[in-house]
Amino acid sequence: MEDEGNHGNDDTRCFILSTLAALQWSRVTCVLCRAAMLVFDRYPLVDGTFFLSPRQHSPACAEVKVEGRTQFLSAVCMSCLEGSGGQPVRCRFCTQAWDGSSLVLGTMYSYDIFAAMPCCSERLKCNSCQKPLIYPHQRLNFYSDYSRVFACPHCRAVDAHFVKPLSACFTREQFQLYSQWP
Ligand SMILES: [Zn+2]
Ligand SMILES: [Zn+2]
Ligand SMILES: [Zn+2]
Repeated sequence: MEDEGNHGNDDTRCFILSTLAALQWSRVTCVLCRAAMLVFDRYPLVDGTFFLSPRQHSPACAEVKVEGRTQFLSAVCMSCLEGSGGQPVRCRFCTQAWDGSSLVLGTMYSYDIFAAMPCCSERLKCNSCQKPLIYPHQRLNFYSDYSRVFACPHCRAVDAHFVKPLSACFTREQFQLYSQWP
């Protein structure tokens, strides 16, 4: 797989700082634990990482236009990336822990970092008809391919199908099945 992130370049830095300045935001919020993070005007920009997603994971993700497409500027804190803040975030379907420790800190990824690492076939289904969009063993060429908006070949629903709502896909509870019992 190829990583086409422009880590540490000045365009990325200016893009983030001008977006946040226009909103008069000096902090951003982690989409997983909601921790507030200060944003710095030089690298590393944040104690975590920024990424762009076609889906708004939280109200604290700023809407931006990138190459004509609507995206949301999102952030994850360092302890969630490294799984050091208590329980790791796990996939609700296969229980695999999400591991962001390989991501570069303090910069921005141009794609949804959760969608880019599908752990199981549940993550590869259409958001409308729930039919698989690619084979379980199949992988797309680029991490950013998982953030694309496209029409499902089965039901034609147009969506960023691989970008799942975080709360529907991840949990910090290890025994989610039992916690729903009365
Ligand atoms: Zn966090
Ligand atoms: Zn999974
Ligand atoms: Zn479908």
